[in-house]
Amino acid sequence: MQNLLDYTKKELEEFIKPNFRAKQIYEWVYKKNAKSFDDMLNLPKTLREDLNEKFYIDPLKKIKSEKSSDGSIKYLFELKDGKTIETVWLPMKDEIYDEDGNLLRHSRYTVCVSSQVGCKIGCTFCLTAKGGFVRNLTPGEIVAQVHYAKKDNNIPYERRVNIVYMGMGEPLNNLENVKKAIEIFTDNDGLAIAPRRQTISTSGLSSQIKKLGEMDLGVLLAISLHAVNDELREKLMPINRAYNIASIMDAVRNFPIDMRKKVMFEYLMMDNLNDSIKDAKTLVKLLHGIKAKVNLIYFNPHEGSEYKRPSMENMENFQSYLRDHGITCTIRESKGLDISAACGQLKERAKISDR
Ligand code: SAH
Ligand code: SF4
Repeated sequence: MQNLLDYTKKELEEFIKPNFRAKQIYEWVYKKNAKSFDDMLNLPKTLREDLNEKFYIDPLKKIKSEKSSDGSIKYLFELKDGKTIETVWLPMKDEIYDEDGNLLRHSRYTVCVSSQVGCKIGCTFCLTAKGGFVRNLTPGEIVAQVHYAKKDNNIPYERRVNIVYMGMGEPLNNLENVKKAIEIFTDNDGLAIAPRRQTISTSGLSSQIKKLGEMDLGVLLAISLHAVNDELREKLMPINRAYNIASIMDAVRNFPIDMRKKVMFEYLMMDNLNDSIKDAKTLVKLLHGIKAKVNLIYFNPHEGSEYKRPSMENMENFQSYLRDHGITCTIRESKGLDISAACGQLKERAKISDR
C-alpha cells in the first residue's frame, strides 16, 4: 500500500486517466476532507476500488495531543511503520473585532512540521538530536501534518496557515522530499499554501542552501546561527566544522529572496555563552549587507542539558543593540513550554518512555 499524499498532481495524472481525475482526487482529499476513497462519489466505482487496493490517505495516527495554556497544541503521530513524530499547532494572532462586534481579522496560525524522524546533525542543545537519526519523512507525511492540524482545529479550507519546517529533523538533509512537499502544499487544488508562507529552517548546510536557492521555489529561509564565532558554534553545532559561519553567510547572500522579505537568523541565547553585547556587535558585522531579521530564542532547558536560560535583561540589551544598528530583532515568545512543545523539545516517543 502507498500513501496517496506522496504524489504531486502531475504524478497522479501520469497513471490515473483521464487527467481531470487527479484534480478531482486532490479536491476530495484536501478541500473536502474525504475520509476514504469511498467518499469520492464522482469517481467511477471501478477506479475507487482500484485506488482502495493500492493507496491510503491517512498516513498519520494521532497517539496523543496536548494543549498548552497559551493555546498551542502538540501532536504525537504514529506513522505506518510505527515510528513517531511531533507536530505543533501555534496560534499566532488573535481575532480582531470592531466596536460592533464584526470580525475584522481572523486569527492566524502556524504549523511547525517535522521533516525527519530524529536528526543527524547532533546539536548539543537539542533534544531531537539525542535520539539520533531514524529516517526521512516522505512528502506525504510532511503534507499530512498540516492537513491534519487544520482539520483538527476546524479551520475552513479557505483560511491559509503558515508553515515552518522547525519541528524534528533537518529539512535540508531531506531536500528532495521537502521540495515535493512544498509543491504539493502549493497546488491550487490542494491546500493552496503559497511558498512565501513556508519557512525552511536549517542548521546551515551551505551546499544545500545553495541547492535550495537554485530550485528557486519562493520559500523563506531561516538560519539557526546561535553563535557568532566558529569556535563556539562548533561546540554547539558540530556541523559547523563542515560548514563554517563564513560559508553560511556566503550561501545566504546568494539566496534568491523576494525583495520585500528577509532571511531570518535564529539565535538561541544561552546564559554566559553568547548573550553579551560583544556578541551582538559581532553579529551586526556578520549581517552587514544582508536583508536579515534576527529572532532571539530563549534556550529551553530539558533534562540533562548543560546550558542555562539567559537573563531577560541580557536578552533585551542584545535586542536593543541590534535594533539600534538597524536590524529587525524580535524575541521569540516561547510557546507550549508547559507541554514541552517549544523549540528543541521534540523527540520520539520511544525516547520519552526511557526518561
Ligand atoms: N533542524 C532545523 C529545524 C529544526 S530545529 C534547524 O536546526 O534549524 C528548530 C529550531 O529550534 C532551531 O533554531 C533550533 O536551534 C531550535 N532549538 C533546538 N533546541 C532548542 C532548545 N533547547 N531551546 C530552544 N530552541 C531550540
Ligand atoms: Fe537537528 Fe535542528 Fe536539533 Fe540541530 S537543532 S539537532 S539540526 S533538529
